[in-house]
Amino acid sequence: MTAIQNAGSLRLILFGPPGAGKGTQAQLLKERLEIDHISSGDLFRHHLSNGTELGELARGYMNRGDLVPDEVTIGMVLDRITTMPDGQGFMLDGFPRNTNQAKALDDALAQRGQRIDRVLHIKVADNELIRRLSNRYICRNCQKPFTRDPVSGDAPRRCDDCADGGDIYQRDDDTPDAVANRLTVYHAETAPVLDFYRESGILADIRGDSTVESVNRLALDALGLTSEV
Ligand code: AMP
Repeated sequence: MTAIQNAGSLRLILFGPPGAGKGTQAQLLKERLEIDHISSGDLFRHHLSNGTELGELARGYMNRGDLVPDEVTIGMVLDRITTMPDGQGFMLDGFPRNTNQAKALDDALAQRGQRIDRVLHIKVADNELIRRLSNRYICRNCQKPFTRDPVSGDAPRRCDDCADGGDIYQRDDDTPDAVANRLTVYHAETAPVLDFYRESGILADIRGDSTVESVNRLALDALGLTSEV
């Protein structure tokens, strides 16, 4: 793999199953690298809470844990990327989720003379993902993820990152049925995208079953940036 030259213009994909910790790592990497975080799930949730036509279209797919059709998803994400200033780096989270999306992304970047620099694949076993997702809560405001208190088992109430203490809720698609379907969809449709990036030599596999800090260290290692911490 080629070394990363300029972290601020890095074009990165955070890849992995639901519950692997992509959102958590994205928050840390965003602060460190000063690149934009583009989460397709957050974009959809934003549309949902604003009651847009796109949000209404996505709602059923999301609640079942199915992929929203490519005709809608690809345009939404590529619009965001192709309207960014040229040298601005970004980190995609939740996109691409099938090979069609990966090819559309490659083509759109190639038209701008750009390419993805690195794909960080966070690997976690299914039983651990199920455990994490059933304990997961997020801030309605800033999307920061939270978990139940390990001692009391209580769910957190207010976000400690938002000035006005954003409301914390459990996602509709973190229910057991939707979680089971999301994992099935991940293995059937999303995991094959890994071969696409493995062939281009930009894929880095990272173990995601340790602490947030260790996973972050592995992610920075894979970007050749650890020594700057
Ligand atoms: P996430 O927050 O990434 O877990 O995404 C939540 C839901 O949004 C997914 O279960 C899908 O229904 C939808 N979604 C997010 N990203 C995509 C994508 N790249 N392609 C299709 N559907 C997506």
